Amino acid sequence: MYRTHTCGELRIGDAGKKVTLAGWVQRTRKFGSMTFIDLRDRYGITQLVLDGDTDLGREYVIQAVGQVVKRESVNANLPTGEIEIKVESVNVLNKAQTPPFTIEEVSDGGEDIRAKYRYLDLRRAPLQRALALRHRLAQEARNYLDAQGFMEVETPYLIKSTPEGARDFVVPSRMNQGQFYALPQSPQTFKQLLMVAGYDRYFQIVRCFRDEDLRADRQPEFTQIDCEMSFVEQEDVLNTFEGMMRAMFHNALGVDIPNPIPRMNWYDAMDRYGSDKPDIRFGMEIHEISSLVKGHGFGVFDSADYVGAICVPGAAGYTRKQIDELTEWVKRPQVGAKGLIYIRVAEEGIKSSVDKFYTPEQLSQVAEAVGAKQGDLIFCLCGAKRKTQTQLGVLRIEMGNRLGLRDPKVFAPLWIVDFPLLEWDDETNRFYAMHHPFTAPKPEHMEYFYSNRKEDLEKVCANAYDFVLNGNELGGGSIRIHQADVQERMFEVLGISKEDADYKFGFIINAFKYGAPPHGGLAFGFDRLCALFGGQETIRDYIAFPKNNQGRDVMIDSPSLIDQEQLEELKLAIKTEK
Ligand code: ASP
Repeated sequence: MYRTHTCGELRIGDAGKKVTLAGWVQRTRKFGSMTFIDLRDRYGITQLVLDGDTDLGREYVIQAVGQVVKRESVNANLPTGEIEIKVESVNVLNKAQTPPFTIEEVSDGGEDIRAKYRYLDLRRAPLQRALALRHRLAQEARNYLDAQGFMEVETPYLIKSTPEGARDFVVPSRMNQGQFYALPQSPQTFKQLLMVAGYDRYFQIVRCFRDEDLRADRQPEFTQIDCEMSFVEQEDVLNTFEGMMRAMFHNALGVDIPNPIPRMNWYDAMDRYGSDKPDIRFGMEIHEISSLVKGHGFGVFDSADYVGAICVPGAAGYTRKQIDELTEWVKRPQVGAKGLIYIRVAEEGIKSSVDKFYTPEQLSQVAEAVGAKQGDLIFCLCGAKRKTQTQLGVLRIEMGNRLGLRDPKVFAPLWIVDFPLLEWDDETNRFYAMHHPFTAPKPEHMEYFYSNRKEDLEKVCANAYDFVLNGNELGGGSIRIHQADVQERMFEVLGISKEDADYKFGFIINAFKYGAPPHGGLAFGFDRLCALFGGQETIRDYIAFPKNNQGRDVMIDSPSLIDQEQLEELKLAIKTEK
């Protein structure tokens, strides 16, 4: 037997017992004639004491036999801190090279080296805690959904390329030369087909693949808790998944989130927070001030479609330098504002960067409109409405960060509902589905949906909803189209020709002709969900073997070249760029 106990198990009540432990040598310390060893496994750390010297290196895998004894100097930070093992014999199970970084709570290794030796990094307690939380949350989701009658069904990974939304990863088929599978961006169409097939309530904790340019903290493969239900309206879906979220928060974190979870419609979210995933842990809401500031000779505002402002509490003391720095910050391409106007509501009176154009009374009116008190600082941006709101939203989040208003241990979930169905893109001169092309228009907007006027189509809303937590979109879904003719119309609105729609989506349009029930669902981004539950912004720690931000797995060194032989089998040739 390799061990009688784990390294996290023994307590003062076990004193006197003879035990065998196995694990990794975290640290050795010599003290007089004795050696102390911290022995580590997944369950914890136990201190071993040996008479004399040892040549055990860090990360050696050993087995130690000895007696549990009361420790002289208790370590209150360790659950096993009241005892130690008086070692009688040590057996080296495997030697270890000195690891390239320290395997400690906080390591001395940089990100790249830790990624290369991910299996060593995974030995560290923070990563073990992260993956344990992930496991817990997956179990909680499963238990809840199972109890609600959801059936876990696996859907295929080798499917058909239907580039709509993100880019597909493709897999060449050897047996069908020149043809390719695609990896699913989500099981969307399959789960809908399961509804057509009468499975009523489906879920799957499933990997999805999207070949997108990797923005910070995105992974080319990621996991969703993917769900679909039949004979439901939006209300049924929201209630079901509020329940799941509540159970996950309560059971995994001991946190009780608001009941019911607040809801906000998309238009309000954009107007008030400049984002469809608002962080409502703090105020600093956006206010339109166009009518107050236009028409006073300040050309920039006068020519703008929209002028909006946020009030930053207690920031009137910001120096010129700080404001200049923020001005540069909003002008970066990632934010894209032209400039930043400020109004200081200081003790000595109101001061702004546009004093030339406005009387103190006029500026006071602005201060009143945005709810500014003495000591606050107002920032104004102007331009096209949604674009400016989005910029103000980004600035708001930045100020929230700078003022420490975004405590990761405070959870403020909400649903965003009533999304527009379609989004116009000026560049390609066509509509795109805001959620995806299977989302149904609201029944009361059907007339607009069948209109060919752009203004009408822009007004169509969907029973589409996102679950938002602390400024992150954690999940989203919709009530689906379940009639073939509506689905065909949707493709038409999206400018997809009938032939193209038939070629790419014929299977689902067809399925809808064979008795498709009304249905809807959603999917949660499980990696981010884990990270947020863990109080972290980055998802990488919650994935056992993640890719880096170039989409590479530096541990196994992938992607990589394949053999000429493999290429020939696939009848593929690599074209080298000249
Ligand atoms: N398949 C959708 C997505 O991945 C979620 C849903 O509509 O259920 O975003």
